[in-house]
Amino acid sequence: MGERKGTNKYYPPDFDPRVHRSLDAYHGTHALRERAKKIGQGVIVIRFEMPYNIWCGGCGRHVAMGVRYNAEKKKVGMYYSTPVYEFNMKCHLCDQRYLIRTDPANFDYVIVSGARRKEQRWIQQRMVKSRRRTARQSVA
Ligand SMILES: [Zn+2]
Repeated sequence: MGERKGTNKYYPPDFDPRVHRSLDAYHGTHALRERAKKIGQGVIVIRFEMPYNIWCGGCGRHVAMGVRYNAEKKKVGMYYSTPVYEFNMKCHLCDQRYLIRTDPANFDYVIVSGARRKEQRWIQQRMVKSRRRTARQSVA
C-alpha cells in the first residue's frame, strides 16, 4: 500500500517547492508511511523472516524457519564497524513477543527472549568432524 501511495505525483495548487521541498513534507508524512510511525525512536517496521526453527516461549508451539513477521527493527549497538540490530515481533499463535538480535561475530541471529532455538547447526558439526579428521591425518 505504501508503494502505491508513494507514486502519487499530484502537486496541489498551493504547493511551493521552495517552502515544502517534497510532497511528503507537504503532507507531513514519511516516505515509508505507517512503517515509519516510530521513526523518532529509531524504530522501523520491516518484514522479518525467522532464520531457524524455534519454539515459542508463550504457547510452546513450533515456529518454522521462514515464517514472516512484521517486526520492529532497532539498532542496539555496534560490533566493530557493523551495526547490531534487534527485532521485536509478536507470535502469530499467542501474545508472546520475541526479541531477536543479529550476531555479526558468528554470522548468526541470537534469541534474546521469548523463544527457544531448535538446535540444527549440522554444517558446523560436520566441519568440526572434518577438522578432527584432518588433525588425525596430520598426526599419522
Ligand atoms: Zn506463541
